[in-house]
Amino acid sequence: MHKLDFSSINNSSALSFKQQKNMIKKLGKGATVLCDSCGQPLKLVTPKKSDKQRKTGVSCAKGCTDIELEFSA
Ligand SMILES: [Zn+2]
Repeated sequence: MHKLDFSSINNSSALSFKQQKNMIKKLGKGATVLCDSCGQPLKLVTPKKSDKQRKTGVSCAKGCTDIELEFSA
């Protein structure tokens, strides 16, 4: 019988909004969160007053995780 495996789809696609929120909370607390794809630590980029062009969000060194976030000042 043919069965659809949604778990593999979820793993390969972008994280859900809830997962992203949890991940960002962790990063905000200074915890280390690893990229699902490459296993490198994710980096939280927060806005800087002196740099308005700064792209904010969460990304890994290789760029397989690259979530853009907007921070409200
Ligand atoms: Zn990565």
